[in-house]
Order: sequence, then C-alpha cells, then structure tokens
Amino acid sequence: MNFQCACQNYFRCSYFNLDMATGTFPASFSGLKSRDYQLGFAANVDIGKFSYTRRVISPRMKFVVIKNSNQGSDIAELQPASSGGPLLVPRQKYCDSLNKTVRRKTRTVMVGNVAIGSDHPLRIQTMTTTDTKDVAATVAQVMGIADSGADIVRITVQGKKEADACFEIKNSLVQKNYNIPLVADIHFAPSVALRVAECFEKIRVNPGNFADRRAQFEKLEYTEEDYQKELEHIEAVFAPLVEKCKQYGRAMRIGTNHGSLSDRIMSYYGDSPRGMVESAFEFARVCRRLDYHNFVFSMKASNPVVMVQAYRLLVAEMYVQGWDYPLHLGVTEAGEGEDGRMKSAIGIGTLLQDGLGDTIRVSLTEPPEEEIDPCRRLANLGKRAAEFQQGVTPFEEKHRHYFDFQRRSGQLPIQKEGDEVDYRGVLHRDGSVLMSVSLDQLKTPELLYKSLAAKLVVGMPFKDLATVDSILLTELPPVDDIDARLALKRLIDISMGVIARLSEQLTKPLPNAIVLVNLKELSTGAYKLLPEITRLAVSVRGDEPYEELEILKDIDVTMILHGLPYSEVKISRLHAARRLFEYLADHALNFPVIHHIQFPTGMHRDDLVIFAGANAGALLVDGLGDGILLEALGHDFDFLRNTSFNLLQGCRMRNTKTEYVSCPSCGRTLFDLQDISAKIREKTSHLPGVSIAIMGCIVNGPGEMADADFGYVGGAPGKIDLYVGKTVVKRGIAMEHATDALIQLIKDNGRWVDPPAEE
Ligand code: SF4
Repeated sequence: MNFQCACQNYFRCSYFNLDMATGTFPASFSGLKSRDYQLGFAANVDIGKFSYTRRVISPRMKFVVIKNSNQGSDIAELQPASSGGPLLVPRQKYCDSLNKTVRRKTRTVMVGNVAIGSDHPLRIQTMTTTDTKDVAATVAQVMGIADSGADIVRITVQGKKEADACFEIKNSLVQKNYNIPLVADIHFAPSVALRVAECFEKIRVNPGNFADRRAQFEKLEYTEEDYQKELEHIEAVFAPLVEKCKQYGRAMRIGTNHGSLSDRIMSYYGDSPRGMVESAFEFARVCRRLDYHNFVFSMKASNPVVMVQAYRLLVAEMYVQGWDYPLHLGVTEAGEGEDGRMKSAIGIGTLLQDGLGDTIRVSLTEPPEEEIDPCRRLANLGKRAAEFQQGVTPFEEKHRHYFDFQRRSGQLPIQKEGDEVDYRGVLHRDGSVLMSVSLDQLKTPELLYKSLAAKLVVGMPFKDLATVDSILLTELPPVDDIDARLALKRLIDISMGVIARLSEQLTKPLPNAIVLVNLKELSTGAYKLLPEITRLAVSVRGDEPYEELEILKDIDVTMILHGLPYSEVKISRLHAARRLFEYLADHALNFPVIHHIQFPTGMHRDDLVIFAGANAGALLVDGLGDGILLEALGHDFDFLRNTSFNLLQGCRMRNTKTEYVSCPSCGRTLFDLQDISAKIREKTSHLPGVSIAIMGCIVNGPGEMADADFGYVGGAPGKIDLYVGKTVVKRGIAMEHATDALIQLIKDNGRWVDPPAEE
C-alpha cells in the first residue's frame, strides 16, 4: 500500500518530505522511520510507489492511499516521524527481474539509420577529440572510429563556427560513403543546437546547462513561483529544438551529468541521483507535451556507485510513469587505462546485468578508437547475460538497497582464546584483496613478499597500505620443505591469512592456516578431523538449495568465498551472490564474503578486467561483499593484484592510490590531455584519499569534476586554472608551471606526502 500527498505541491511536501512530482519518496526519506529492520530500511528507505484508491485526511494534509500495483514487490512497514499508524510501502521496481537478466523492454529510437532499443543490439559509440572546426581531421577521425566498429559518433559543437563545420563534416562523410549517424554535443547553446539539427542525426542536450546559466554552486532559495518560472523558461528555450527534431526526424539524448546540475535542481535535490532524474524529466516532459518520443536518457557520473543509483532511479520512475525510453549508459570522466575500463565495467556492467541499457560509451582519456574495444567487450557481456537470461531460481529480495548505498560489513575476524597467531589482519575493514599463490612462488620468498606489496625490512615482510591481506595456496609445500614453510610462517606472523584446502591441510598440515572447505565437506563432517580451533573459510556457490546452506548456521566461519565456475552459462554469479546475501541476512549471519573468480586459462586481460568489474563490482556497488580474490592462470601476479585494488577503489571501498577524474577530451580540449594526465599521474599517484580532476576545458570541466578535491582545468589555450573543490583558486597559470602549481596547492592544503623512497 502506498501514499500520495494530495496537497498538490508539485515539488515538495514538507510533511512527509515526499517527492510529489514523481509519485515516489526518495531514498533519504527523512520523514519516516523504519520499524522493521528485517526489511532493510533501517536508516534509509528505498523507494515506494503510489497509486490511488481512497483519501485519508490528516490534520495537516490529505493522503491518497492506494493499492499496490507493483505485484510481488517487497513491503516495508514505516512509521511517520510525527504520529499515526504504520505505513506499508512496497519497494519500487527498477528492472524487469531481480533473479535473472531480462532486458528491459524499450521503444525503438532511430538515430539516422541506426535503431536503439530493446529490439536491437546494444549500440556502441564514442566521441571525437579533434577540433570540430578542423573538418579534415574530424572527418578522418570519424572514419577511423566507424572502421573500428562504432555504431554512432558524437562531436562537440560549441558555437556557430563549429555548427557551420558540421555541415561540411556531414557532407564530406556522405561523399566518402560513411553514413554513421552523428550526434552533436551541445552545452549552453540552444541556437547552435537548432542549426546543427539540420545536418546531424541526433542532438545531445545537457539538462543542467541547456537553458540554464552555469550553476553557481550556491545554495539558493526558490519559491514555487520562481521554480515554475524557470520551468517555463526551459520550455520556451527547449521547445523549438524539439519541434525541429520532429520536423527533421532527429533523435535526442537527454543526458544528465552528476556535477552539472542547475542551481534550481541542486537547491531542491542536492547534487544527487534524484536531482539528476528530475533534471532529465523536466526536459522529457516538454518532449512528451509536444508528442516527441525519439529520445533516450543518460545519467552519467564519474562515481560508478552514484551512476548506478541514478540509472536505477530513472528506470524506477519510468516504470511508474509507464515510459519506455531507451538508456545510453556511461561512466563519465572515467580516466585512462585499466582504471577507466574498470570504472566503466563496474557501472555499465552492473546495469547491463540488470537488463538495463541500449547503447553504451566507455569514456576514456585515450584516443576515441581505443574506446571501441572495451565497449564491445561490455556489450558482449550484456548480450550474453540477456540472451541466456542468466540468473537463479526466483528468490525474495528484501535487504538490498537499490537506490542508496548501504554497506553490509561482514564481521571481521576477532581474536579468540587459544589463537596462536593474530588473525585480525587477515581481512581489511575497507575491503580485502586475496591472491592465489603457487608452490613455485614460495621458492623465492623475497620476490613473493614484493609481489604481495609487502614492505621489506632486512628481508622480512611487513604489511603496508596496499599489501595483500590473505593468500590462497594452490598447494601446501611438503612438510620437510623448511624454507617454503618459513616463508609462509613469516606471512602468518604479520597477520596475513594463509588459506589451504582441506585435503592439503589434512595431508600436509600447516600450523595456523585457515582451511578452505566446501558445503559438502562441512555436511559430511570431514572438517572435524582438523583441530577444533582451526579457522574455516567456506566456498559457496550461492545457488545451492537452502537446506544445504543451513549448515552455515552451526559453523563459525572466518570468511565465505563466493564463487561459481566461469563455465556456467545459465547461472549468473551476480544473482547467485545476491541470493546468498539474502540468505545470510535472513539468518543474521554476518560472515565476511569474498568474491572469488577463477578465470579460464588464456582469457584476454581486458575481458578479465571487464568481467571482474561487472560481476564483483555489481555486488560491491550495492555494499555486498568484503573483498576480492581473482585467480587467472597465466596472468601476471602484479596485474591481478592491481586489478583487485582497482576494483575496490572503483567501488569506493578502499583507496590505495590517488583517485583521478579525467575527461576523455573532445573538440573543446585546450591541451594534450593524455600527455598532461600522464605527467600529473607520475608525480601524484602516491596520495591515497586525494582525488584530482584533470579537465580539458572550463565549459564543462568545473561542473563535471564531481567531488574531486583538486582540479586542473584548461582555462584558455596554454593556460590552466586550478581548483580546490569547486572553487577556482588560481587562474591563467602557464601550462609549463601548472603541474608544479598543482602540487604546491595540494601541499598548501595539507594533503601532500612525499612519495615513498625507493628500496
Ligand atoms: S570537460 Fe573535457 S570532454 Fe568535457 S567538454 Fe571540456 S574538454 Fe570536452
């Protein structure tokens, strides 16, 4: 059952703090508090849905109580903060199925000759980085991108000169027989959009700046009248473009970015996923009023957690409204190299496995052609998941928060009576990295310690910020291999967990090892052959019958390793894990859970990153999981370790290096972004907890730096502006001095530490 405020306050209801515009209440629903912790709404509430049945009068306000039209949804019992009886609120649907990947049904949007929507393959796209006025260079780059396999290309169009160039670009491409649809990227320039709609197939508008001035990041008070006036202004500015797109058969993307929301939206919703959705809806309502439906939505953010929540919220709202517009997915300003691929895999991969997304862009600070390969890999992952409808048998999901981040923290190991060593460090509170170690590696202990990123002091290992927390041994060394056993003892002595399989431990016991058992070994009692104080890690698939999981209630488990064979085609690792977490929550079992992925030999490195990000990342962005263990024969140990730490950092769990937000560059970029970005990284990559934005221009840069601590932004050709947060503190610094000035700024703000001395 659900409630809708009948005060007709379109924007805000102060009584229940409900969002009346959308018929839902927001995740940070402050007016109600949960009565039922079992439903998972303790501090923050997911979303409820409204539909009418009868009116209820309260002293301050009327409510319309409605029947739940969201069949089969979970129900939370909430209490008004003031007084009155409990309210039953169903959680709102954000995807077609919670137990398998079912692609959300979306309408077909035509972008020139390319169809976007659920009846069509996932489309992949990128953006040019050339100066749009340089017609020859832009045409050449578009051709290169098309030859790499992109379906759609976007080009920035800043002003009239660029719009003029667009006609030449289009003509030139047509003459060369390249009919790839072109998208104009528009910010702050409605008149430019109107012109370019005559030659390009699609217009991307940013609702944060199409009709509004640049956000001032000031807390403004808006009366309802002010708000309404601004909406009327949007309609006046935007409607001509909609009409033109209708007339010319053009498509549109209503592309909201976290960080470039208008003051109006921020004053009401903050810089939040909800604000992003409302910002897009303001524009969508204009389109719909004009009976124009050839558009898609995007909700990009550089933080994959925010991005995932924003898209889910958008889709949840669309379900309420009965809308079926397709989604363009992307993590913006993701950066470069593996960092950028990992962040994109986490954000895009999570949504694809929930059946969301119709076209994708992997935004990298690299040449645009380089984006096509990871895009294709992600699209393949999404296609496979949807084709096989990968999942598990239906289960009830009551605890996961879809729209706000709530971390389920597993109970970290505590010291027990009889323990001979300290187990408290075998997992890390911000997320653990476990690595699989072979017998061979034990032959060269110092090399092994270095590979585990331990510090070495006179040959002895010590744990550091980014040291691996525990290792899984593929085999135990023979009992008479004194050197190998000493190497392991030294790791155990620094509270690194050393995990051995049961059969190994029974035949070649290693003192104080953590022993890995499966559910069968638990149920047969085989593990009882171990000394009673032995710490256990338990491997679980997540799709077992509940009776098989029952045994977990009777065992003291140090950690669970969740894993499914990579070869499973129809069973989804993601849904199996969600099912497992539900089971654990239902039975108040707070064992830490490590995502354990065993890749087949010969797997491509980029597929590995994308699979790990999309699978483990999809759980970690929901706060589900306490660490990662990637096993991949034939892959470099350092690569696997770095990938694991990148995954944790990408999910905003454990920071072991500087966080970078860097734009992919486009025709507006005022310096060589890749080169400068590499130089800045080289000097600043040792600052965990510090985030630095490197942005190509001041048009979008400052707005899209999101929550970076420091910003390095192209202010004019050859000149850099430096920011602390969203405030510009130094303008017009000559490029050659700008990196040093940035470092000085970090020092002045007390965030600098000297890089560790080389050993
Ligand atoms: S911030 Fe970067 S990608 Fe965005 S408009 Fe400016 S230069 Fe282009």
